[in-house]
Amino acid sequence: MEILNGVHQIKTPAPGSASWYTNIYVIEGGDGHILVDSGWDSQESLWALQEGIKAANLKLRDIKKVVITHIHPDHYGLSTKIKQICGAQVAMHRIDADFIFPRYKDFADLVKQTEELLRQNGAPAEELPQLKEASLWANKYVTPDSPEVMLEDGDTISNDSFEFEVLWTPGHSPGHICLYERERRFILTGDHVLYDTTPRVSFNPQSSDNPLGDYISSLKKIESLRVHFILPGHGPVFNALGLRIEKILQDHEERKRAIMRTLHDGLKTAYDIAQQIPWMANGGSTAFRDLGVWDRRMAITETIAHLKLLTEEDRVGNVDMDGASLYIAKD
Ligand SMILES: [Zn+2]
Ligand SMILES: [Zn+2]
Repeated sequence: MEILNGVHQIKTPAPGSASWYTNIYVIEGGDGHILVDSGWDSQESLWALQEGIKAANLKLRDIKKVVITHIHPDHYGLSTKIKQICGAQVAMHRIDADFIFPRYKDFADLVKQTEELLRQNGAPAEELPQLKEASLWANKYVTPDSPEVMLEDGDTISNDSFEFEVLWTPGHSPGHICLYERERRFILTGDHVLYDTTPRVSFNPQSSDNPLGDYISSLKKIESLRVHFILPGHGPVFNALGLRIEKILQDHEERKRAIMRTLHDGLKTAYDIAQQIPWMANGGSTAFRDLGVWDRRMAITETIAHLKLLTEEDRVGNVDMDGASLYIAKD
């Protein structure tokens, strides 16, 4: 689908889901096309890319650059295969690039660190084996390799038709980037801003000390850009960036309030809190115990991210007692 003159959106499927897609974008240019994000590494996804390219009357061989917004498997997964097929260069932010091998190849340490984090934050011993391995299935849909180009905030990526400014927007992942076309006034946002989903921000062994604080700063960094179109990594293209960002900020404030309410009746671990606040899953509000194992882990690590921000804001205190990290309300 041609979204703007010379900008095509291709929907690539997620493994095992009939309703969840990754949007990848082909940016036409006389001296080579730029592909933004790659989708999962699966035959279905590669086929969708090929069909999309064909429908746009373009050729796979003309893809010269693959720019990855962030390390997650639904964005990065297929990039190595595309490089093998087209000889394209893969580009991503240096910070996410450094996490590729520890996450997707030699991941034993990461699994151990995740287990330790979950244990410290109150997850019961009997749930740890399941929780610590909850994301390993995704590794099957990623071919890890070092990118050819390491990006930094402020870098420029161009073909002879478009010029993008790399905006480093850490939070959803530590090396997340958005691509801003200043002259044509549109932005590719990856998972930083989506139309109808609040992007997940979790504290994990590969995140910064305060990923939600980073995320909110990254929202503020882009909120007043003059853009007519936002091209996200999932869901529909939209406009009114400022309004959308305001709503996402409100969602996080609401979650912080829910967390503070749970702390007013006692000291709690992140796991205790995650059990007491509502979560969204399967299109509605869902109790923690009814979530699948991956969503339960995300609920715990998202709760920790909110608690880190609340700690930074001096609204909660944090102490280690009896081997667990406990939080206490300070207001
Ligand atoms: Zn993501
Ligand atoms: Zn995504």
